[in-house]
Amino acid sequence: MVCGPVEPQLWEEDQGARLRAVLKAKSLCFSCAGRLFARVGRGLTNEKRGRDVLSRLKLEEAEECWVCEGLVREIPKFGNLVEEALSGWEYSTFLVGCKIDPDLLNREEVIWAEAGLRTYEPIKAEVNREVGKIVEARVGKPPNFDRPDITAVVDTMLDSVDLNVSPLFLYGRYRKLVRGIPQTMWLCRTCRGVGCERCNNTGKMYETSVQEIVAEEVMRQAEGESHSLHGMGREDIDARMLGRGRPFILEVTRPHRRVLNLEAIARRVNRSGKVEVDGIRLASREEVAGLKATTCEKSYRLLVRLGEKRSLQKVNEAVEALKASKIVQRTPTRVAHRRADKERVRRVRQVEVTALRGNALELRVRAEAGTYLKELVHGDEGRTRPSLSALLDTPADVVELDVLEIHDEEPHGQSL
Ligand SMILES: [Zn+2]
Ligand SMILES: [Zn+2]
Repeated sequence: MVCGPVEPQLWEEDQGARLRAVLKAKSLCFSCAGRLFARVGRGLTNEKRGRDVLSRLKLEEAEECWVCEGLVREIPKFGNLVEEALSGWEYSTFLVGCKIDPDLLNREEVIWAEAGLRTYEPIKAEVNREVGKIVEARVGKPPNFDRPDITAVVDTMLDSVDLNVSPLFLYGRYRKLVRGIPQTMWLCRTCRGVGCERCNNTGKMYETSVQEIVAEEVMRQAEGESHSLHGMGREDIDARMLGRGRPFILEVTRPHRRVLNLEAIARRVNRSGKVEVDGIRLASREEVAGLKATTCEKSYRLLVRLGEKRSLQKVNEAVEALKASKIVQRTPTRVAHRRADKERVRRVRQVEVTALRGNALELRVRAEAGTYLKELVHGDEGRTRPSLSALLDTPADVVELDVLEIHDEEPHGQSL
C-alpha cells in the first residue's frame, strides 16, 4: 500500500493522447505546461506541476518555449525592476500588473483551445503573482488587490515599469479671513499659466488662493506632482469664510510621501494670516463625491449700501416680506457666462437687521443652499424677485459679504 498525498487526476484517460500530441507539437517550458492545470488542486507552483505533467506524458521541457519564448524565466528580472522603481516612494501597499506581447497571449489561447482544457491560468496572472511575491519578500510589504497605494505595471516587452500612484486625499475645514482671494488656483485667462504681461508673469489671475495656501506645506511634505482642492461649494472671491469654516478635500497627485505631519500643516496654514484650517485628516476618493454633492443652508453677514436712507421700520417690513416670500432667481448676469440660464425658487430662512446707520445696513441672513445673496439684495435688474432693493424702492448694493456658517451636519433650523 502506498502512503502519501493522493495525486489529483489531471486529465481523463481518453484526453491523454491528444494532450501529448499537442504538447509535443508545440513544446513548452515547465511553467507554461503546468499553467494549463493551475486550477487543479493547490499548493504546487506551475513549474512543479509542469514537471509532473511533462514526465507523465514522457516529454522533455522545451529549450525555447512555444508559448512564452522564455518570458517566465525573466520573472526574477521583473522583480528587480519593480523593486528599483518603487524605491524612493513611500507606500504601505502595492500591486503588480503587467503588459504582455499580444502575440504571446494569442499563442496561449491556441494552446487552451487545442488542449481542450478548462483548468488553465493566463500567463498574466502568473507574472503578476510571481513578481508580486518577489517584491513582497524584498520590500516587506503586502500586495493589496483592492486599493494599493502604488500599482507597478511591468512592460515585459520594453523591460520598463510604470508606477500608478494613488493620490493622497486630505480632509479639513478652512476659514478665509481676508477678501480678494479665490478658493482655487485660477490660471491667467490670457496665457493659461505660461506667464504674460497681464498676469505679471505669475501665470495666475490672483496672487494666491485658499488652495495654494493649504497646499504649500502639504506639497513640501508629500512631494506630490500637483494638487487640486474640492470644496463643499465655494464663496465669492470678495467674501470671507468664517465660523466653523468650509469642508474641503485637497487631492495631491503622485505623492512620494504619505505619512504627513498634519499638525505642522495646520500650523503653517494658520500662520498665513489669510487662511486657517481645522480638523485635517486623511480622506478617501469616495469622500470627494459626497462632499461635492452636499448642499446645505448657510448664514451670512451682509453690509449693504442703500441708494437712499430708509427708516428702521421700513427696513424691518422689507425683511419680513423677504422671509415670507418665495424668492425667484434667474441665473445672475455675473455667472450667466458659465451657467445655464434658468429660474430657481429659494427660501430665506431668517433675516435679522443688526445695524442701520444712514445708508449703511447690516444684515444676518440664513438662506437655502444655492441662494444668490448679492442678487437678493440688488435684484439683478428684476432677475431676482422680490429683492431688498425692490421692496425698499431704492438701489441697494452689497459692500461686504461674509459666510458666517455652513450648516452641514445640522437639521434645517431657524438659528443664524
Ligand atoms: Zn513557457
Ligand atoms: Zn498670463
